[in-house]
Amino acid sequence: MKYELVVIGAGPGGYAASLKGAKNELKTALIEANLLGGTCLNRGCIPTKLFLGATEPIAGLKAQQRLRLASGEIKIDLKKLQQRKKSLISATHRAMTANLKKLGVDLISGQARLLNSSTLEVSGADKQKIEFDHLIIATGSKNATLPGLIPDHQNILDSNDILDLESVPEKLAIIGAGAIGIELGQFFSRLGSQIVLIETKNRVVPAEDPDISKELEKVLKREKWTIKTNTLVQKLESNQNSVTLHLRDEKLEVDKCLVAIGRSPNIENLGLDDASIETYGPGWIKTNDYLQAAPHIYAIGDVNGQTLLAHAASNQGEYCIDHILGQNKNPYPQNPIPSCIYGSFEIIRTGLTAAQLEAQGKEFSVTKTSLIANPIAQAHGAGYGFIKVLWSEGRVAGITAIGYNVSHLVTLAQVIVDQAWSRDEVEKHVFAHPTLDESLKEALLNIT
Ligand code: FAD
Repeated sequence: MKYELVVIGAGPGGYAASLKGAKNELKTALIEANLLGGTCLNRGCIPTKLFLGATEPIAGLKAQQRLRLASGEIKIDLKKLQQRKKSLISATHRAMTANLKKLGVDLISGQARLLNSSTLEVSGADKQKIEFDHLIIATGSKNATLPGLIPDHQNILDSNDILDLESVPEKLAIIGAGAIGIELGQFFSRLGSQIVLIETKNRVVPAEDPDISKELEKVLKREKWTIKTNTLVQKLESNQNSVTLHLRDEKLEVDKCLVAIGRSPNIENLGLDDASIETYGPGWIKTNDYLQAAPHIYAIGDVNGQTLLAHAASNQGEYCIDHILGQNKNPYPQNPIPSCIYGSFEIIRTGLTAAQLEAQGKEFSVTKTSLIANPIAQAHGAGYGFIKVLWSEGRVAGITAIGYNVSHLVTLAQVIVDQAWSRDEVEKHVFAHPTLDESLKEALLNIT
């Protein structure tokens, strides 16, 4: 069988590329070894946000209780929430299958392996050899492990395991204070787990602005999380119903331990060598400026190691189709991709960080506003947080924020960064009242 376009991996990157390829009348096949939707739908963005959404009333009640305005208790049935997760994911699988079918994409079930730079073989249910004019590799990533921190999937868990738990651990240790650790920690904290958050670096969310880390740490401590930064877990020992964490100077005993120390690429048995495809680091696929790993072969999404976010994967997938069709001959833009961490205390980042501006040797200034007096934050009992704007050459170069619901600001912030607004441009626009957005205007105009 021969196709004009073959895509390996049906996560957000591969799915978006297949749909766009087929819409543009490329004869397209999409090969998936596991489930449609990849990490994002089955064990990433979607289940984590479903869990945070379902437990949000607990956080809301707690905030009002702190103001002595409310009392009572909200109970979540975790088993039922798991059932809801499964049914929502299955419904999405059905919708995705229907979309692919409607557009004439051949969905092939099995593991793809390259035989050379124009042929691959699929093992599994739909075993066959396939030739292609263009190939997009979108095989994604999996949980990273380190010696001594290997999940046993019973007590020592990775993010896939913890998303399937049907009971709430009394004491939960989380190794890794990045987005995944913070979001899953919030979920289990709302359900009553005592959280111990451990990070080797000197601050939580180390990829974010240091001021964000400081504010988050304050909030997490107020939520009674135990935070151990600058702390290396040397070894994990799984007992019958608990885990022992061996730190340098102490041992900790918890019910479950989540290892959330990053991701590594899905490249096993892909036959990369047979198509002369190079990798870097732990195996991320090397690409040129056009996301090509070899002539006519693209690598997009997590597997190229550039930005491990779903919207980056789908955007790259769509770019490749334009490039294949000759509708876009420009290199893939290297603009920073907006990111969010979700929950009761949310974090956004758009554009460049102070560290990136410094690394580029650019001078910059900062304007900032607190969210404490924002009427929407106040209404929700969220008396913390801020929005910080980085300016370079009189134009907005980056925006970051922490606070109640700030993920809702991310697209506006991204547009402002993309369009590199000046102060005059900010002043031209009316921001509705009362909204979180008006604090963004205050931050841009340096009204504290
Ligand atoms: P994936 O989604 O990983 O999909 C790759 C697919 O390729 C998989 O289905 C796999 O089975 C298939 N595959 C692999 N090898 C083969 C092969 N040889 N043959 C056939 N098929 C193969 N991102 C966000 O933007 N927002 C979030 O809120 C967010 N939350 C997250 C929460 C968690 C807990 C996790 C783990 C991740 C989260 N992410 C989030 C990251 C996001 O899920 C990934 O960036 C995104 O899924 C990457 O998409 P992808 O298409 O590159 O790969």
